[in-house]
Amino acid sequence: MTKWVYLFNEVERVEKIAGGSWDGVKAIVGGKGAGLLDMTRAGVPVPPFFTVTTQACNAYQKAGKFPKGLWDQELNALKQIERKTGKKFGDPSRPLLVSCRSGAKFSMPGMMNTILNIGLTDAVVDGILRNSGSARFAWDAYRRLIEMFGTVVMDVADEAFERPLEELKHRKGYKVDIEMKAEDWEQIVGVYKKVYKNETSQEFPQDPYKQLELATQAVFRSWNGKRAVDYRRATGISDDLGTAVNICTMVFGNMDQNSGTGVAFTRDPSTGERKMLGDYLLDAQGEDVVAGIRNTDSIENLGKFMPVVYRQFMGITEKLEKHYRDMQDVEFTIERGKLWMLQTRNGKRTAKAAVKIAVDMAKEGLITREQAISRITPENVDALLHPQFDDVAMTKAEKEGKFLAKGVNASPGAAVGQIYFDADTAEKMAKESKQATIMVRPFTKPDDVHGMIASQGVLTSEGGATSHAAVVARQFGIPCVVGASAIKIDLERRIMEVNGSSVREGEWISVNGTTGKVFVGKIPMSTPSLEEQTELMTLLKWADEICARKDIRSAPKGWPRRGLQVWANADYPKDARRARSYGAVGIGLCRTEHMFFEPERLPIVQRMILSKTSEGRTEALNELLPYQRKDFDGLFEAMDGYPVIIRLIDPPLHEFMPDEEKLFEDVVTMRVRGETVGLAEKESLLGAIKSMHESNPMMGLRGVRLSISMPEIVEMQVRAIFEAAADCTKRGIVVKPEVMIPLTGTAKELEWIQPRLVRIAKTVTEEKQVKFHYKFGTMIEIPRAAVTATEVAVLAEFFSFGTNDLTQMTYGYSRDDAERNFLITYQEQGILEKNPFQSLDRAGVGKLMEWAITNGRATRPDLEVGICGEHGGDPDSIEWCHMIGNNYVSCSPFRVPVARLAAAHAALKHRPVPRKKSARPKAAKGKRKK
Ligand code: ADP
Ligand code: MG
Ligand code: MG
Repeated sequence: MTKWVYLFNEVERVEKIAGGSWDGVKAIVGGKGAGLLDMTRAGVPVPPFFTVTTQACNAYQKAGKFPKGLWDQELNALKQIERKTGKKFGDPSRPLLVSCRSGAKFSMPGMMNTILNIGLTDAVVDGILRNSGSARFAWDAYRRLIEMFGTVVMDVADEAFERPLEELKHRKGYKVDIEMKAEDWEQIVGVYKKVYKNETSQEFPQDPYKQLELATQAVFRSWNGKRAVDYRRATGISDDLGTAVNICTMVFGNMDQNSGTGVAFTRDPSTGERKMLGDYLLDAQGEDVVAGIRNTDSIENLGKFMPVVYRQFMGITEKLEKHYRDMQDVEFTIERGKLWMLQTRNGKRTAKAAVKIAVDMAKEGLITREQAISRITPENVDALLHPQFDDVAMTKAEKEGKFLAKGVNASPGAAVGQIYFDADTAEKMAKESKQATIMVRPFTKPDDVHGMIASQGVLTSEGGATSHAAVVARQFGIPCVVGASAIKIDLERRIMEVNGSSVREGEWISVNGTTGKVFVGKIPMSTPSLEEQTELMTLLKWADEICARKDIRSAPKGWPRRGLQVWANADYPKDARRARSYGAVGIGLCRTEHMFFEPERLPIVQRMILSKTSEGRTEALNELLPYQRKDFDGLFEAMDGYPVIIRLIDPPLHEFMPDEEKLFEDVVTMRVRGETVGLAEKESLLGAIKSMHESNPMMGLRGVRLSISMPEIVEMQVRAIFEAAADCTKRGIVVKPEVMIPLTGTAKELEWIQPRLVRIAKTVTEEKQVKFHYKFGTMIEIPRAAVTATEVAVLAEFFSFGTNDLTQMTYGYSRDDAERNFLITYQEQGILEKNPFQSLDRAGVGKLMEWAITNGRATRPDLEVGICGEHGGDPDSIEWCHMIGNNYVSCSPFRVPVARLAAAHAALKHRPVPRKKSARPKAAKGKRKK
């Protein structure tokens, strides 16, 4: 006979069936049931109960009725409870009342409300009154049962019960329920019975067993109710788990002033502080505390009124916390001075509390450091490093009607600033007028980036989570809301309008990138700094220690056996300093071309590009050399002791030139107006730009190809790098420059360019008479380079996967076009599971990387391997990099803390299993021999 029902003292039997796994126990009796069983075993006072299994629920779903034996087992269990409590179900003289509580393996809030006071009938109420029980208590409990039973089991609308109660209170001039007297509740019971009859065409069941049966069924049915199904869809909980039913002896917090009910967290769920946080109410039942109908009292005060109960409560909760090794969320009731625990579970908490609790518990010895690391998610860490709005101020702003519009929450964090409708103005106001600015555009393009970087936040009215604005904002850690389509932006009139209200250029707004909401005016916020968050610093230090362990990674000989290091992408010394303070131990990508855009340099760059001869180019480049040297100098100084990878010039040269269309317009206008001053110059410039035109610049003359056709640029860059490195060395700074050649497709390209550059490096170090370690290597961003890694690694001393380009070229997508056009459709249609530009495509791009590492290391066993694409900050991609043998990942400075945690997660997840002594059964051995 299948066992469908477990009694309060049968936890061992469940454990046995579950094979000793607590997760298995939860699967059978649900989370709530498991907690009650466990507490009972530990000697915690829990009212006697029994639990109907999730399997019974599943059997009921299949057959449409109770499975064979279930009802008998319930009746039997009820007998045991009667014996234990000395009360009897349905007996007017000593009535046993029970609650019926649903509880699945995972908590599913709001799936089904608990029904209290089952077992009350007209006869039982009579009995209570006869035995001089409190009349007020009896009628109040009865009306609660009829209402809960009606709404939960029979699907009667809440208002059907609420309305008559409100009417009566109004007639009597009562404001709150506690003013209701015994005869008022008695009257309401009469009304409720009529409501019940009207709504269900049945009498309220006077048979307590019928009540129990129908309530059990209601829990089973609720598993397939709309609320539950929606919740499971949203959270990915499987449909075939089923829910358990807990039938629990009622204890009453509403008996008198010596009774009460409450809820508490063993630590503060918002700050994580080690301090009990809870509320209770005297003379109250069930959910009165959370319902907010009466003002609750804080748990410390219980110590004043009921010191003994309070001490017992503190003792029990401490024990529970130790037992579960986590912060507990408990529910309790006090009946005439006796404490009963009704529920315990791991409490939900904010990111801040999660980190503090994990670190504290590791220090208290409750959990290991590894467990502490595992409990924190990358999202937790991310949430802690973005500026945040003050919760109270946020609610106040909503109340005051400051809400403007909602869009897609593209990049988390809070931003407050004055709005500007184009990148140049936004940048100008930020830099020159030192304003906090927010750039507002219908959408953004690559040439808007300077305005975005200068701004506190970005708001667009078009585009989705993968739009240009969203991607760039995340890269730079700028709070961003995109696709707020209710906003109409008038770029001519410099105004944006939403449903009648308007905001002009220069006015203040607040953008919440975490929720996607936009407000007018300034909402107060605070920017958390990593250094101030001591617990997070500690946690990340532990993460680094895990990664630094020798042999945490199983790998072929010569490959890294420690975990991943985290480096950062940084172009400027200030980014490098931030990266370092966030824990980066190297620069994985410094893009040198940004430096060419600075106002005093661009004209020189343009002159260099336009000159027809190598001499002319060299002359211009010599002017640029001191600037570049200074750039690198600052970078080396900031990263003293750590490697710095500098990428030689990558983009096509036309990016440094004025916009062709705009120039053409100018020329035409000048011609029409007959203006001649400067016309010839503009015309020749236009001609030069036209001649540089490429139909697909992304795949055109750029990267190493450009360097081969114009080696003077990279020669200057390498000279600048090594002169700076030499100077720094002389100043006592430890430099480890690594020169990175971009966009290699064939080893022959390296054979052509690298020796020339190495020669310059040698010359400079000899000239300056200094020695330091340096490397020459390449980016792997063209599939062919990955495929031919065996040859590429002959010259390249390191590989760095440029996974943005590698993804573009492996898929054959142009990123901008893809994200603007079909990528969202592809995700909606399930053709792509994720955006491959955000999370590495393991099956395709990832395989190429794996191949490249394996073959590269076959040529050069100590080949250093990293990744510098946007994927370097994505936890799922980081895990892959760990699995295939990367030495490090490099990401934007803001993502460094997240990456450190993700690297430790990967290391723990894939740590080698210590090999057990052979336990293979003899028979199997014999078979193998044949
Ligand atoms: P939820 O899953 O929504 O937390 P519960 O089953 O825990 O629902 O019930 C909600 C509340 O009802 C409990 O916090 C408790 O106050 C009250 N309750 C449930 N069962 C009993 C009982 N046997 N005796 C007294 N109060 C109960
Ligand atoms: Mg509860
Ligand atoms: Mg690239």
